[in-house]
Amino acid sequence: MILSLLLALTVSLSGCGDPPSEGENTVPSTNASNLPVDGKPADPPKKQVAITFDDGPHNIWTKQIVNELGRYGFTATFFVIGNRVDGTAYNGGDTMAFVARQGHELAIHGYTHELYYNSCTDAEFEFELSKTAEVIGKWGGKTPVLMRPIGGAISKERAAACPYSVILWDVDSEDWRYKYKPDDTPEMMQEKVDTIVNNVMSQVDDGSIILLHDIYESTYDATCIILAKLYEEGYEVVSVSELLGEPIPGKIYYGG
Ligand SMILES: [Zn+2]
Repeated sequence: MILSLLLALTVSLSGCGDPPSEGENTVPSTNASNLPVDGKPADPPKKQVAITFDDGPHNIWTKQIVNELGRYGFTATFFVIGNRVDGTAYNGGDTMAFVARQGHELAIHGYTHELYYNSCTDAEFEFELSKTAEVIGKWGGKTPVLMRPIGGAISKERAAACPYSVILWDVDSEDWRYKYKPDDTPEMMQEKVDTIVNNVMSQVDDGSIILLHDIYESTYDATCIILAKLYEEGYEVVSVSELLGEPIPGKIYYGG
């Protein structure tokens, strides 16, 4: 109690020293949500969301995003493309091992990213999933339990028979529409980042599953802002498995 009061006093005193903002009364600007209420610290908010990154790994942006998540102690889920992990072009194995070591969840997207699961053959479906699971096991050290269909497309029958939980989303950043182009001006780049951030922050709610792609610089720039805003708004960012508790194989989850 005494410590709380002292803290309140310290905050209040330091707030008084702030320069007044132009044309306004000199009310100290402090982050009211973090201040003790009636001498007691406010209850920490328990809102949880999952951020998911599809189509990686990328040899630059995946690690940068993981480093940014680490600043907040947040955990994310990466739905990977198997042949990007296997191939040498993206330094994928090292990146996946790094992502796993940092405590993030690795999950299946597909091996080639060229087949839709509502139209491919059973043999192709089986190959896309099992080969990607093998790659994740090899580099991440764990058997995945989640799957996200390419383009979100999967038949109900196939989803029900799937040995993994099928993870869709309720918050679409549409980041792939707003990737930087070589002749973008700084203003155009800023506008793209602002749009991605707004697409997420205007829809996010307790229990949301957010869709992003860890393969674009613009997504990295937007993610830095999104994480800061989620943190400020009291969200805890957890893996999809943690958000869902014990996800059931064959069930489709939308978040929200
Ligand atoms: Zn994809």
